[in-house]
Amino acid sequence: MVKCCRRTGNGSGRCRSVEMNSAEVSLGYDSQYLKLMEAAQSVPDLIDLTQCDPPLYGFNPDKSAIEEAVKALKKGKVDYGDFKGYSPFIETIEKRCSKKGGTPSAVLVTHGVSEAFSLIARAHTGKTLIPDPTYIPLYEHFRLSGGVQFYPLTEGDHWSLVEDDLRRSITDQTRFLVIINPNNPTGAVFREKELKSAVDIAGEYNLILIADEIYDGICYTPFTSLLSVSGDVPLLYLNGVSKTHRLPGFRLGYIVLSDPEEKTASLWQNIEHLARIRLSVSYIFQTAARIALEKEDTSSFCEELKKRRDLCVETLEKIKNICMIPPEGTPYGFPRINFDERKFVWNLLETGVLVTPGFSYGPSAAPHHFRVTFLQSEAVLKEAFERIASVASSG
Ligand code: PLP
Repeated sequence: MVKCCRRTGNGSGRCRSVEMNSAEVSLGYDSQYLKLMEAAQSVPDLIDLTQCDPPLYGFNPDKSAIEEAVKALKKGKVDYGDFKGYSPFIETIEKRCSKKGGTPSAVLVTHGVSEAFSLIARAHTGKTLIPDPTYIPLYEHFRLSGGVQFYPLTEGDHWSLVEDDLRRSITDQTRFLVIINPNNPTGAVFREKELKSAVDIAGEYNLILIADEIYDGICYTPFTSLLSVSGDVPLLYLNGVSKTHRLPGFRLGYIVLSDPEEKTASLWQNIEHLARIRLSVSYIFQTAARIALEKEDTSSFCEELKKRRDLCVETLEKIKNICMIPPEGTPYGFPRINFDERKFVWNLLETGVLVTPGFSYGPSAAPHHFRVTFLQSEAVLKEAFERIASVASSG
């Protein structure tokens, strides 16, 4: 049972097409966020609920991927390699995408989804429509290029993607529509119907879709990839090995272009050009990541995370002044709190627990949300939730 969010929503049933420019609103990695993170560094025995770094919490990758990296290193495979990526790795990526229902037109290996965002942001002009709440670096990448616009996710309805809201958020300057699924920070997993309506709208307004599906293997409910429903609408599909495959330190990701009607030829040329001038991505990590993708070993990771998610949902549910839509994927929860989150996060830090304040994630998340990551052990999570309860109940 969820206490309050389903009924009250976040007031975002209505349109919120906000054109941001860096100085206007306190969000992203702004000074308030940085101050909090810096203060946290000097807190002894900090319980950090902000990091999504699976190996840091004992969720290790498949051993054979590491062994493959060591083998490649021993072989002295240290030449630059092709700027597009190592072809057996590209074939594995194509196979994985086909299994998800896609028809890849081209693939580019990148230094993580992060570099994929950076290349796309630099390769285009026009505004990028991103979700609110959003993944903070996504906002940061695109605000520094053509600028961002926001479309709201509706908290009262599993943080859903609502067709009319999306439509109302588009202007004649909008060029890209970004969908993060499973979603960071809300933990939402979008239904096929929601994805199909986003595809229809992108087609209608000539937008290019960007899908970030880096959490596709961390789902507690059935998952549909945008690859399987994008049809003729141009799609830049982003993924990597940092989360599902637990290899964040490899810094490895990829962009798959799906564009059956070749509407994005000049954009793709620009992206490739930028990749060419950054030379290449390490062969060693590509050959090892190929093994990780082929094994696709996620079930025990996901099962363990589900236990922690359940603990998080059950415990937060009982805490006064807090409610949360249960996450359906990702290791994140995005609870709503009845008073100003800025006061809450600082008071909580005094007890030794760090969470990310909602204001960083977008205009509608502030001032009543915060994000928790539930990768920590159950014992640590229980301790953290006790402290959250004591701070939240004192208002
Ligand atoms: N996309 C989302 C939605 C994320 O949450 C993260 C990391 O937290 C990334 C991308 C970063 O991906 P990578 O490690 O491949 O750069």
